[in-house]
Amino acid sequence: MRIGSGYDVHKLVEGRDLILGGVKIPFEKGLLGHSDADVLVHAIMDALLGAAGEHDIGYHFPDTDDRYKGISSIRLLEEVMKILSAKGYKPVNVDATVVAQKPKLLPYIDAMRENIACAMGIEADRVNIKATTEEGLGFTGSGEGMKASAVCLIE
Ligand code: MG
Repeated sequence: MRIGSGYDVHKLVEGRDLILGGVKIPFEKGLLGHSDADVLVHAIMDALLGAAGEHDIGYHFPDTDDRYKGISSIRLLEEVMKILSAKGYKPVNVDATVVAQKPKLLPYIDAMRENIACAMGIEADRVNIKATTEEGLGFTGSGEGMKASAVCLIE
């Protein structure tokens, strides 16, 4: 068994779709990034790569590479799973937290779990996703951005 942790931040801007856990969430702003900027999936990918001793997502999917421009992060998660399975690793479980002042994420959590679990080839109950605010403090509180963290176990 091996453990990994992941952390990511993206800025919220107008004129972008808000994608979290592969779910398009109605909101007046979206996350800015080279891919779809799915901060939750990025944290999970880094946790998985970390557990496998495989650097990080910037190493495997550089934001200077046009192949990854606007790409669904769920597709990148599938690529991460190939990297893990090539080394003989299988995911055990993931636990992740999204930090966002708005919008309320509870109605979308189950769909996020399904998307992520499907990309990882595991049951949805092995992918736990939590959402919290930071009580109006800091850059998440002001709505300038969102952050996510994740831990995962692989075997
Ligand atoms: Mg990112």
